[in-house]
Amino acid sequence: MSPDHQPTVLVVEDEAAQREVLSYNLEAEGFRVARAENGEEALVLVEEENPDIIVLDWMLPNVSGIEVCRQLKTRPETRSVPIIMLSARSEELDRVRGLETGADDYVIKPYSVVELMARVRAQLRRTRPSAAGLRLEYDDIVLDSETHRVTRETKELKLGPTEFRLLSTFMEKPGRVWSREQLLDRVWGRDIYVDTRTVDVHIGRLRKALCQHGGDDPLRTVRGAGYALG
Ligand code: CA
Repeated sequence: MSPDHQPTVLVVEDEAAQREVLSYNLEAEGFRVARAENGEEALVLVEEENPDIIVLDWMLPNVSGIEVCRQLKTRPETRSVPIIMLSARSEELDRVRGLETGADDYVIKPYSVVELMARVRAQLRRTRPSAAGLRLEYDDIVLDSETHRVTRETKELKLGPTEFRLLSTFMEKPGRVWSREQLLDRVWGRDIYVDTRTVDVHIGRLRKALCQHGGDDPLRTVRGAGYALG
């Protein structure tokens, strides 16, 4: 996984030791990890961290994992974020399934770290293909995240590294409107301070790069909201 595309995993687990072991392993695999120790904190962090995937323990104090899952799956802005539920016993797991919480996958504790990592990657391949090193296509544009090559109508496009990251973000979810702040988080990273106007500058460069051999500008400016592909 390239560090430019480091996906964020939100780990929700009330037991500190388990939370740390899981976070440590995810970080070792190249993920950025946000940690929550209860359901309330998880619901706040989802908005602040915009995670790519959530690993959610079912037994949490106050707001249960099931309730957190149900709330996230009913909100339009978080509905598509994959959730892997952790449960201590298979009977609990059957209940979780029966409750139709909308979780994308379930793992029984004690789980093997290797298996859990495989499940996390499987979910990300589905929702964030560029982070998994796949080829993305949109109309006549093809982006290969492994070789970092972009072509349009088979002609190679020259793109700077920031424009490449911007384009892969757009190509993962064509039609989705990204705010400048969301693009900053995704492309520049949360820990770096960059002015939102910088986003506009790089969008301008990306537009120019996409049309370097002709063709229409596929990027759309959504007034008051941000940018979208198509
Ligand atoms: Ca727990």
